[in-house]
Amino acid sequence: MAAVLDVQNIHKRFGSLEVLHGISLQAEAGDVISLIGSSGSGKSTFLRCINLLEMPDEGEIQLAGEMIKLKTNHKGRRTAVDPKQVQHLRSRVGMVFQQFNLWAHLNILENVMEAPVRVQGVDKAEARELALDYLNKVGIAHKADTYPAFLSGGQQQRVAIARALAMRPDAILFDEPTSALDPELVGEVLNVMRKLAEEGMTMLVVTHEMGFARDVSNKVIFLHQGLIEEQGPPSEVFSQPKSERLKQFLSNTS
Ligand code: ADP
Ligand code: MG
Repeated sequence: MAAVLDVQNIHKRFGSLEVLHGISLQAEAGDVISLIGSSGSGKSTFLRCINLLEMPDEGEIQLAGEMIKLKTNHKGRRTAVDPKQVQHLRSRVGMVFQQFNLWAHLNILENVMEAPVRVQGVDKAEARELALDYLNKVGIAHKADTYPAFLSGGQQQRVAIARALAMRPDAILFDEPTSALDPELVGEVLNVMRKLAEEGMTMLVVTHEMGFARDVSNKVIFLHQGLIEEQGPPSEVFSQPKSERLKQFLSNTS
C-alpha cells in the first residue's frame, strides 16, 4: 500500500537563503513522526511545504500514491498545476499551529463545523453532530457555545485539534502545538495527541517535548540547518545518538 505521505527531496529558498536542502520523509498509516531540531533549522518550513502553504522550489509530494502536480511558470516560480488538487491535499492533511488560529468571530462549535460545511459541503445538521463528537473527544463539548477568547490556550488548542479532525484527515501536521501554552496547560494537549496516536492517526509533530517524542512517536527526525542529520526509532535517537550535533541538541534540551 502507498504511504499516506511520501515527500521527496524538498528544497526551499527564501530569496537567496536556502533553508531546506533536500528533505525526504515517508509516513505510513499510523506513523507518529516527531521532528526535532534547533530553532531556525527549517522544521516549520518543511511542514508548511508538505501541504503547500509554502511552495517548495524542488521536490515531490505524494498523498496516498497521488502525485501533487507542480510546474514551473514563466517567471521560474513553481506553482500547482491544479488548484483543486491542492485543496484536496489540504483537506486530507490537517494542520495544527502553535498559535491555534481559531476564528475569533465564530464560537467553538462553528469553528469546528466551518471547513466540513464550506470545503466538503457537509450538510449543516450532520456537521454539527460531527463537530460535537470531535469536541467531545478532545473534552471540550461543554464549551460549544463559547467564543475562543474565553478559553484557555490549552482549551483553544484542543478545539484546533477537533477542527482538524472534523475533516477526517489522512494525516495531521502539528507545528509546536504546545509551545505557546503555559506549562500547566501542556499536558492536556499532549494527552489528546497521545490518544489520537493510540487510535492510529498518522501524525507529523514538530515538538520540543522530548518526553512526547520518546514515548509516543515511532520515528524521530532530527533536522539541522535544513537537512536531516539523524533519524530513527526514539530508542536509538534518544539513547544512542550518533551525530555530535544531535548529542549537543539533546544535552541542551533535557
Ligand atoms: P524552525 O521552525 O525550525 O524554527 P523555520 O522553518 O521557521 O525554522 O525557519 C527556517 C529558516 O527560514 C530561518 O532562518 C527563518 O528565518 C527562515 N524563514 C522562514 N520563513 C521565512 C520567510 N517567509 N521568509 C524568509 N525567511 C524565512
Ligand atoms: Mg518553527
